Amino acid sequence: MSELAIAGLRVVVGGREILRGIDLVVKSGEVHAVMGPNGSGKSTLSHVIAGRPGYEVVAGSVTLDGVDLLALPAWQRAHAGLFLAMQYPTEVPGVSLVEALKEALIAQGRASGDVRELVAAEAKRIGFDERFLTRPLNVDLSGGEKKRNETLQMGVLQPKIAILDELDSGLDVDALKAVSRRVEAATSETGLGVLAITHYTRLLRELRSDVVHVLRGGRIVATGGPELADELERTGYAGYEDSADGPVAPPPADPDPFADPLA
Ligand code: ADP
Ligand code: MG
Repeated sequence: MSELAIAGLRVVVGGREILRGIDLVVKSGEVHAVMGPNGSGKSTLSHVIAGRPGYEVVAGSVTLDGVDLLALPAWQRAHAGLFLAMQYPTEVPGVSLVEALKEALIAQGRASGDVRELVAAEAKRIGFDERFLTRPLNVDLSGGEKKRNETLQMGVLQPKIAILDELDSGLDVDALKAVSRRVEAATSETGLGVLAITHYTRLLRELRSDVVHVLRGGRIVATGGPELADELERTGYAGYEDSADGPVAPPPADPDPFADPLA
């Protein structure tokens, strides 16, 4: 049983506090949806958990099975069992999906079998054309193809916790069904815990979520069951208080005197 625990997380980007106190616990087998309008801090949350540089954590903690993720570089977070499906997957000219996954599996100590075969089997599960497997990673792929690529990587790497940032964007209905089925299968086959970030309810019509959180102005303003997504479908985000005008966090108690002011 694994557990991603986010507690009192406050994050500053470009001098502005974007996440203003996030508390969230995702356990093995659970699907949590985080829904929020544009600019509410969804991608910031996913980037901070995964370890993208450029974010200043001013308070709080993020742990995976008790391991302090915030103290680790991104690759070690992945090694600890975290996976991020990016909203805008990075293009990597010169490296194919199979090559990238082979290196990742070697790092996990799981590259004993035929990697190409393993990847091809995953591609089949989500209806992804095999010709993409040997092309440069994400280069010249459509938005939807990139999202299937991310899903395929998740299936091969078998993380403990996956953060899916707008996995639905660019996917047509059939692809949305296929990737949702794959994510759900992982929750039961390998006990994957999921944080599914989206601003549309359409993902949640395909991907059954146990818990739905509403993010506004960098705070979780509502948490409920799947019915919360249905309600959002009807009312939009307008009914949820925008806490952007709420109290601003105090500056960190002990600012780093050696910090680069231009960083
Ligand atoms: P969402 O994914 O919910 O649409 P984001 O997390 O991408 O929102 O962004 C939240 C807010 O943080 C936005 O107002 C955005 O402009 C701001 N922001 C994000 N990244 C940066 C950055 N690198 N520098 C300055 N502001 C940023
Ligand atoms: Mg985003």
